[in-house]
Amino acid sequence: MNFQSSIVVKLGGAQGVDFSAICKDAADILKHGKQLIFVHGGSAEANILGEALGTPPKMITSPSGFTSRYTDRKTLQVFIMAVNGKVNSLLTEQLQMLGVNALGLCGLDGRLMQATRKEAIQSVENGKRKIIRDDYTGKINRVNNQLLHLLLDAGYLPVIAPVAVSTQGEAVNVDADRAAAMVASALKSETLILLTAVPGLMKNFPDETSLIRQLSCTQITKAMEAAQGRMKKKVLGAEEALNGGVKQVIIADGRLQNPITNALAGNGTVIQ
Ligand code: ADP
Repeated sequence: MNFQSSIVVKLGGAQGVDFSAICKDAADILKHGKQLIFVHGGSAEANILGEALGTPPKMITSPSGFTSRYTDRKTLQVFIMAVNGKVNSLLTEQLQMLGVNALGLCGLDGRLMQATRKEAIQSVENGKRKIIRDDYTGKINRVNNQLLHLLLDAGYLPVIAPVAVSTQGEAVNVDADRAAAMVASALKSETLILLTAVPGLMKNFPDETSLIRQLSCTQITKAMEAAQGRMKKKVLGAEEALNGGVKQVIIADGRLQNPITNALAGNGTVIQ
């Protein structure tokens, strides 16, 4: 088995994140002998398809303030159509057009990402706590790193959609930032890059002059206070990756040309 160091890149789904620039940059980086893994989101596409099919998205907020998608069986099907279907295949297509042998898959395939399904989740609605039982979301507890090494060593660029397999074999929706963190941990990657539609983590969001350039793992609790909404998941993912043995996590701008190279040059929030 080859223990060449790898870079995991998570592609954000927010408007402005330039998939084509990310793919072009990846094609160049691969020429320098690096191993790359892509993990992507796709909530925006799932929302659009859900609206079109008459199942608009429903977000829930946990008692600790994290928001996530309420995923009943129908919503899960829509999510898979949009994310594993459209987003994953078109990303793979873009890479193939650049001569990169990308291989699209999700956590169901070869049990790539195994998760514990959340059988009962708590949500807060209008100040009241509710228990939801028909939710198909989960938390990844194991990544099949042998399968990833097999693909990487054979020269493929895995493109991973954020759907995992539960212990019982059911498909579950997982958070893409945290999925990327688990994949990077399983591979002991040198770097996890979270590309999004902001220059990095800001101390006083949305004031871009308050960008935090460097953070140590011990300052993460403070960083969590600055992060709002979905940014909290990125900070949480960063913490999980560092605890899992990843050397550095960079939250960086995915709207620029050469966004991966730019992040690797230290532009963004570098957490070590
Ligand atoms: P993605 O689709 O890339 O996963 P999200 O849009 O879900 O990203 O989350 C990133 C967003 O979080 C940013 O675009 C920004 O609007 C928001 N955000 C909240 N707090 C902060 C902060 N402190 N610094 C930077 N962005 C923040």
